[in-house]
Amino acid sequence: MSTMADLTPTPDRPGLHVSKPSPNTPATGSAVCHCGATTTATGDSQVKALVEGYAANHGPAHRNGGGRR
Ligand SMILES: [Zn+2]
Repeated sequence: MSTMADLTPTPDRPGLHVSKPSPNTPATGSAVCHCGATTTATGDSQVKALVEGYAANHGPAHRNGGGRR
């Protein structure tokens, strides 16, 4: 079993984490990139934007030549 703290990305363990405990609860998300960028969001639409932005500009996107140059 994992706790929220275990799943939340940190500078030591970059990554993306999204949590939506129930359909009636707003989603929460956090992202930490190895480039140093950190983002958190609350609310379904905000988390969706966070995920899309992270995917487009951070994480694996760095290897594709995207994101910060
Ligand atoms: Zn990055």
